[in-house]
Amino acid sequence: MPTIKERDREVIWHPYTPMKAWPEAIAIVRGEGAYLIDEEGNRYLDAISSWWVNLHGHSHPYIAQKISEQAATLEHSIFAGFTHEPAVRLAERLLEILPGHMRKIFYSDNGSTAVEVAIKMSLQYWNNKGIKKTKLVALQNAYHGDTFGAMAVSGRSIFTEAFASLLFDVEFIPFPGADNSPESLAALEAILQQGDVAAFIAEPLIQGSAGMYMYTPAVLSSFFSLCRKYDTLIIADEVMTGFGRTGPLFACNHAPDALPDIVCLSKGLTGGAVPLGVTACTLDIFDAFYHDDRMKMLYHGHSFTANPIACAAGLASLDLLLLDSCTQSRQRIIDMHNGFAQKIKGHPSIAEVRQTGTIIAIELKTDTPSYHSNLRDVLYRFFLAKKILMRPLGNIIYILPPYCITPSELEYIYSGIEEFLSSH
Ligand SMILES: *Cc1c(COP(=O)(O)O)cnc(C)c1O
Repeated sequence: MPTIKERDREVIWHPYTPMKAWPEAIAIVRGEGAYLIDEEGNRYLDAISSWWVNLHGHSHPYIAQKISEQAATLEHSIFAGFTHEPAVRLAERLLEILPGHMRKIFYSDNGSTAVEVAIKMSLQYWNNKGIKKTKLVALQNAYHGDTFGAMAVSGRSIFTEAFASLLFDVEFIPFPGADNSPESLAALEAILQQGDVAAFIAEPLIQGSAGMYMYTPAVLSSFFSLCRKYDTLIIADEVMTGFGRTGPLFACNHAPDALPDIVCLSKGLTGGAVPLGVTACTLDIFDAFYHDDRMKMLYHGHSFTANPIACAAGLASLDLLLLDSCTQSRQRIIDMHNGFAQKIKGHPSIAEVRQTGTIIAIELKTDTPSYHSNLRDVLYRFFLAKKILMRPLGNIIYILPPYCITPSELEYIYSGIEEFLSSH
């Protein structure tokens, strides 16, 4: 019998994978807590929550049970003209905890679609009001997804290069790093002053795919207040930062006066069990589409909008997320990361150690700082040999663990990193 790995090679095209250089995929047969278990019985410690989605551990029995119950009751129903309890309940519960004054939930399938919906909502909002605001502003090196609108508001990079001529124009402002946040804010204000900006979109506090680059809550709140001053909509892309990754439930919670108009969610929304996207908005935005003129409705929807099984998973994940024990687990990860950062900071191979909440990133010194840095493959293989799943962003390694990770599992990852540092 050929293995899964062998059959995969014949028929599968993997995402973000140079298929020639990496012909072999590891075939996972089971998930358990922070581990993924392959067909040969190897147990990989999932240090990156399987691409930042998993919150409570793999195949969590409570989420699995709720999914199973929902699948046997109502697996799916059209969501135009029809509705169902899991979608309504999840919307009610999200609206209670989201930052800003969110009043309506629009469902889609993933983070990219949540961003597409946010872009379309904000452009059509001004169009419906008969006000000419058509420009979008984003941060350099942002990552908002892989569909065309989401690519357009993402930084121009190797990810988007092949499609560059087809992406609509977006104004990019410099990332507000430690020494240039005044320039970044001034650049935003200069663009906003032109009066034609429909929306500003940003990943609050952490640019994930860019390399876990972090900025302060004070800057976030300055961005938002500038947008408010010039009557521009604010889109907070919390696809990665949402559901406790930065400590509090949402990254915007770090700046209590940073109130977005639109919030995009996915990844941890279902605890990482099944795909689901959410675009939440204020009543003001919803009202611009609430009209006798049907041309003013939002022309957007996906076949699987508000899939009941996904909504049930979302509700189950929220149950777990809102337990005191989950808050404590996150705090434990934060404290341990903190201690580790202090310990390794200043190591001659390290350019910078950054931490926001449960996410810690270690930028290594290299002569080739890029996504395809040689160091990347060396790092990936080094940790894989230790049965740790890491996916370095070029020369940047990071830990973004499921909250169920135990202190000894975290220590194991830290010691792997220290071993790499002392051997390279
Ligand atoms: C991952 C990500 C997306 C895209 O989500 P997908 O579900 O992969 O389409 C959008 N925004 C941010 C900030 C992300 O990290």
